Amino acid sequence: MDGEVHHPVTGRQLSRLRSALRLPVITPDDAPYAAQSRVWNAMIDRRPALVATCTDAAEVQTAIRFAREHLLEVAVRGGGHSLPGFGTSDGGMVISLAGLKDISIDPASRKVGVGGGCLLGEIDRRTQEFGLAVPAGVVSHTGIGGLSLGGGVGLLMSRYGLTIDHLLSAEVVTAEGRLVHASADENADLFWALRGGGGNFGVVTGFEFQARQVDRDVLALLLAWPLDQAHEVFERYLDFVEDAPRELTSLIFLFNVPPGDPYPAAMHGAPAVGVAGMWCGGVADGFAAVRPLREYGPPAIDLSGQRTFLFMQSMSDEQYPWGRRYYMKTGLMEALPRAAVELAVEAFTNAPHQALEIDFHHLGGAISDVDVSATAFAHRTARFAYDLPAAWDNPGDDQAMVEWTRHTARALDAYVTGGSYLNVEADTGSEVSRRGWGGNWQRLVAVKRQYDPTNFFHLNPNIDPARG
Ligand code: FAD
Repeated sequence: MDGEVHHPVTGRQLSRLRSALRLPVITPDDAPYAAQSRVWNAMIDRRPALVATCTDAAEVQTAIRFAREHLLEVAVRGGGHSLPGFGTSDGGMVISLAGLKDISIDPASRKVGVGGGCLLGEIDRRTQEFGLAVPAGVVSHTGIGGLSLGGGVGLLMSRYGLTIDHLLSAEVVTAEGRLVHASADENADLFWALRGGGGNFGVVTGFEFQARQVDRDVLALLLAWPLDQAHEVFERYLDFVEDAPRELTSLIFLFNVPPGDPYPAAMHGAPAVGVAGMWCGGVADGFAAVRPLREYGPPAIDLSGQRTFLFMQSMSDEQYPWGRRYYMKTGLMEALPRAAVELAVEAFTNAPHQALEIDFHHLGGAISDVDVSATAFAHRTARFAYDLPAAWDNPGDDQAMVEWTRHTARALDAYVTGGSYLNVEADTGSEVSRRGWGGNWQRLVAVKRQYDPTNFFHLNPNIDPARG
């Protein structure tokens, strides 16, 4: 969009804000505007009036009060990865948390303090120096803010559960600009809502997590067979994960084998069914545990082997860089019946683009050890989640990519629980939100009314306080 942005604040008001913040406040007149106003998904093209990057909680308070005074819509940006682009706003004010980067680690208690603007890779690199990790997601440039407030799934989830299951406390700036602390003992309702309720309740300037001990070396699993073996591979995989050890987090997926190394030339470009994952309980034990999967077939591709945990946590970075066009649908499932697999194979076979894939993540494990009402995250009993992650570059492909993804999601929805993991939903709206929070919806509305009765923070999977 090339349109001019109307400045809703005067030069004098802007100077006042600028003098209160350590880092420059950026407007469309400033050279860094193009870089600082964009978000990860190039499908989102909005023109905020101001980008204010904060370096501590006091600056976030200042920015919020300024936005209130001047009636500016506020977009809070952590890592900028939101699929629908909640980290920016047309004509509003982006509060960027990119200056909130403190990380503190107490190796004895394994407690880790993390600034609200940290990226996953920054946390992983520091915690691994002590043989620790905060269980989180799989792409290192994702923000801990949006990921953890929505739940947080990743390669350690079967063994240890969600990111929010490791949250001990949070420091929050509310819609009124108050600084509050939330934990099991302090503002317990807010603490409950922050664990899965997204950015609805305030700006989290600092998180405190209980980290886990995670070895430097893990077993990476990546096997694939030609697509015509899909049904047998699914059957075998579903049997296997039924009682697979929790050290293994895995998924089964339909994809076109990328042309080039390290894939065998005979499979370049071929449609395939893959099984991938990570074992975090000793590499030798991992090889023994996944033997039944590797011996099935045998696989046309087997790239399994010892890798570092840090490698695993960034190996998908290149697949999902900033600046490509993205759309995604997702759904949670109690089971993965043969009819759903047939449907997925057919949809994949008819996909309009080589890059499209269909993923089925195996859930359960430690996620389901926690009661559904214990945190705002509502979907702990699901056994699988399907993801349709569409990524492309040419704007001319927008319609075909979005249509295929929506069409496939509608078909797969015959097999879902009705809920979805809102962090990976490209679509928005009150019905999407309600389904996303299922049985926890009413309690979330009550907490929202207490902490943000005017819906000041609405650029998120939203809980509208007026619609309980
Ligand atoms: P942003 O766009 O900055 O923020 C997203 C939302 O959170 C916005 O509403 C924003 O206002 C709010 N927010 C962000 N930080 C704060 C804060 N500190 N306080 C209050 N509100 C805040 N999810 C997983 O669970 N596991 C994965 O492995 C995973 N992988 C992903 C890989 C990619 C490439 C992408 C794009 C997404 C992935 N996701 C994953 C989904 C991810 O959790 C969400 O996109 C999440 O919203 C990203 O958070 P962010 O801070 O980067 O995004």
